Amino acid sequence: MQITCPYCGPRDLAEFAYQGDANRTRPDPASTDQQVWNAYVYDRTNPAGEHREYWQHAGGCRSHLLVVRSTLTHEITSVGFVHDKTPSPARSRRRGSSKGAGA
Ligand SMILES: [Zn+2]
Repeated sequence: MQITCPYCGPRDLAEFAYQGDANRTRPDPASTDQQVWNAYVYDRTNPAGEHREYWQHAGGCRSHLLVVRSTLTHEITSVGFVHDKTPSPARSRRRGSSKGAGA
């Protein structure tokens, strides 16, 4: 399996580290509701099909990526930088080319 890093291009999976499910919403940090935090930390869905995931290109540019991958076929339909929020098809964008400090 390969992941196309938006900065580095296509690279082997061995260069990437899985960072977790990108669909979960972090509870309010001020919340003391133990059930809410327990669900956030431990409850996981097991979707069949497209899944939004965080990956880091740990063996390359170290960028944090938002990847949409099929859990059935491992086909990756989009990859983008996490700071861009919305994944898009792989592109040859250079980091910091337009705005400088990211959002
Ligand atoms: Zn990279």
